[in-house]
Formats: sequence, C-alpha cells, structure tokens
Amino acid sequence: MEPAKKESVEVICPRCRYTQIVTLPMDDLPRCPQCKTRMSISELLDEGKSY
Ligand SMILES: [Zn+2]
Repeated sequence: MEPAKKESVEVICPRCRYTQIVTLPMDDLPRCPQCKTRMSISELLDEGKSY
C-alpha cells in the first residue's frame, strides 16, 4: 500500500460517544458539536476491514 498524505480517521467524543470522520493531517482535532469536548481519535479506518 502506498503511503497517503491524507488519511481518514474516526474521532470520538469521550463523553457522549459522538463519532465523526475527519481527514488528517489537520491542525487540531474537532470538538464535539454536542458537548464541546475535544474529541480523540478512535481508530484508523482500514479499508476492507469491517467490524
Ligand atoms: Zn460529546
């Protein structure tokens, strides 16, 4: 797999579990639209891999 400059990651709010897909690199992690808490990276999205 070729290294990509951008990668999509799932971020999750530690408080309300709200999740959002963001594309890295980005200046800062987004805040949860519901409780304004700084969201953290949940996991890297891996194509072809399902839950
Ligand atoms: Zn939240």
